[in-house]
Amino acid sequence: LAKSLNSMATYFYDEKMENDDNDRRRIEASLRQCLDNKEAFDIHYQPIVTPLNPNCFNKFEALARWNSPSLGPIPPDRFISVAESSGLIVALGWHLLDLICEDMKMLPDCTVSVNVSPNQLMTPGFANEFYNRISSYGLSPNRIEIEVTEKISVLIGSTLTQEMKLLSEYGFIIALDDFGTGFSSIAYLTHMPFNRLKIDRSFVMAAQSSSTRKKMIHSIIGLGKSMGLEIVAEGVETAADAAFLSKLGVNYLQGYLYGKPKPCESVQTGYIGADQISYPVSRSL
Ligand code: C2E
Ligand code: MG
Ligand code: MG
Ligand code: MG
Repeated sequence: LAKSLNSMATYFYDEKMENDDNDRRRIEASLRQCLDNKEAFDIHYQPIVTPLNPNCFNKFEALARWNSPSLGPIPPDRFISVAESSGLIVALGWHLLDLICEDMKMLPDCTVSVNVSPNQLMTPGFANEFYNRISSYGLSPNRIEIEVTEKISVLIGSTLTQEMKLLSEYGFIIALDDFGTGFSSIAYLTHMPFNRLKIDRSFVMAAQSSSTRKKMIHSIIGLGKSMGLEIVAEGVETAADAAFLSKLGVNYLQGYLYGKPKPCESVQTGYIGADQISYPVSRSL
């Protein structure tokens, strides 16, 4: 019996693997074609606000969207991971950056955060090319910020470190994204030129129902601040989340409470709403 159960498990496992692999190949083929034709990709923008001025919208995160002609809309977590494992992320990243720079003509006086995959940062010459691209659109590094995910453990390596240092020297603000979900050690944080920590939304969204999560957020903020980093909280969905995070001294808030990601044509900038709301901000941290 043990043997037959074992072989059944193997069978299901293999079938799932094969399906995943087929999916992956179909996504990769379609990605390649869309990249060749420079079609079907779009960028949505989600506001990032400060606790003192939560009605002021002049800062956004750029989030990639893809509506594959053959497969339909694919969520970014999925197609970015296929692009990363297939090497297409480098070409895709440049195409997305072009779309963002083009969109920024419709977002005057706004700052936009761009997600950059560690695989892109491991390409020698990345920082220079990144700077040259945005410059060719007349944009300067103070309009663009960079988010690097913590999800991948390969955030170590001399090329990556060197490219990040160069980006920092050019004047780009660099944020460590998804903090708390990956493999970063505290020692690692001190060796890289990060200006900000983005607390992953899984922590923020669990905070109101879990005192352990609340304590963890409190510690992360204290740790980050003691290292001179600014703190961004993502996944802020309720006024209770916002009040709690603001009291702990978070510098920036992002989440559905302030707006879902939208195409640049539908994004409103400047002050929105007549009544100015703000949250009590901590003085102690
Ligand atoms: P991320 O960089 O951590 O982006 C934040 C994600 O949280 C976005 O998901 C956003 O829509 C979602 N989000 C923001 N506020 C809330 C909220 O209040 N509630 C909930 N439930 N979700 C919220 P999205 O757009 O699906 O993107 C997923 C991930 O895909 C991003 O996570 C990022 O890692 C990756 N990604 C997206 N665009 C790009 C890109 O252009 N390049 C790279 N390398 N990665 C990208
Ligand atoms: Mg567009
Ligand atoms: Mg991000
Ligand atoms: Mg994140």
